[in-house]
Amino acid sequence: SLQCGIVGLPNVGKSTLFSALSSAKAEAANYPFCTIEPNVGVVEVPDERMQILEGLVNPQRMVPTIVEIVDIAGLVRGASKGQGLGNQFLANIREVDAIIHVVRCFADDNIVHVEGRVNPVSDKEIIDLELQLKDLDSIEKKFARVEKAARVGDAKAKVELEIITRVKNALLHGKSVRAVGLTEDEKAAIADLQLLTIKPVIYVANVDESAIINGNEYVDQLKAAVAEENAEVIVLCAAIESEIAEMEDPEERAVFLEEYGLKESGLNRLIRASYHILNLITYFTAGVKEVRAWTIQRGWKAPQAAGVIHTDFEKGFIRAEVIKLSDYEKYKTEAACRDAGKISVEGKEYVVQDGDIMHFRFNV
Ligand code: GDP
Repeated sequence: SLQCGIVGLPNVGKSTLFSALSSAKAEAANYPFCTIEPNVGVVEVPDERMQILEGLVNPQRMVPTIVEIVDIAGLVRGASKGQGLGNQFLANIREVDAIIHVVRCFADDNIVHVEGRVNPVSDKEIIDLELQLKDLDSIEKKFARVEKAARVGDAKAKVELEIITRVKNALLHGKSVRAVGLTEDEKAAIADLQLLTIKPVIYVANVDESAIINGNEYVDQLKAAVAEENAEVIVLCAAIESEIAEMEDPEERAVFLEEYGLKESGLNRLIRASYHILNLITYFTAGVKEVRAWTIQRGWKAPQAAGVIHTDFEKGFIRAEVIKLSDYEKYKTEAACRDAGKISVEGKEYVVQDGDIMHFRFNV
């Protein structure tokens, strides 16, 4: 499943955020394929459409879709040269699909700042620099070989060399690869480099509780600094989030959020944002035993989407029956949808849409 890695300098609130996410954790038995390790939390993706389906279908159980959050502690200045847990840390980042970069945007004299003062932009740059240096290493290793192949006329190598050169120049100018604006094809051409700064990022501005709603000057500085990366900045207070996450009673939680003027928790916003930057969508399966949400990449066709449930569904795919959630809400039952002609029968070429309620037919 989808993995997001939390990074950031020491003492910025990573562990606080991670433990908040982990206490909102999912029923492990529902997700047997997930990694079980102390630094990995399994978090359900909040989705209002699940409650709508629950009301309509009244199933025995509800299974939301999930993201895995990995706490990647240990990055310090010099990590790319093996300082601290440098290399292990960077290997961990290679595995994740997206990066959650926590930046300290609160002043608190009692909490030591590793660099001596609160400065979110330079904090972010320290982390970026380590990742960029590592990417330059990866490129350096490959550059000579590609250059040579291009010189003797290898067409593929020529294309690659052009892309790598552009990427290298950006890195040398202190930019992350994600800011280069590569096309999907260009990204695919250099995928084997497994670059770190090409991964999508969400910045978490960790603020004091007084700044949750309107932010503060640190947040403004951070937002200005990342504008070019087209990245999302989520403003939250990790300490408050961990209090919210511990509340089991939804009503108590709602009252608490309201007191802070919040519509929903920062964690919910964060999880949804990670879902969006990765271009993921959800489809549902809905039966009396179980209503369940499934994560796929936008653009996937029906057989590939079915494969998320089971590889047999993909191999033996015959057709899919699709109901739109709006039709389900209007007609209330699957049978009524059928009578109204609101179940469409789709073949192998059908591109699954966000919110589709799917029923797959397959050969075993
Ligand atoms: P990490 O080293 O990045 O994992 O940081 P921690 O989560 O351990 O947090 C470092 C310290 O900052 C702890 O004492 C936290 O209680 C404190 N802290 C975390 N978030 C906030 C916050 O939003 N405001 C304030 N004032 N302190 C925070």
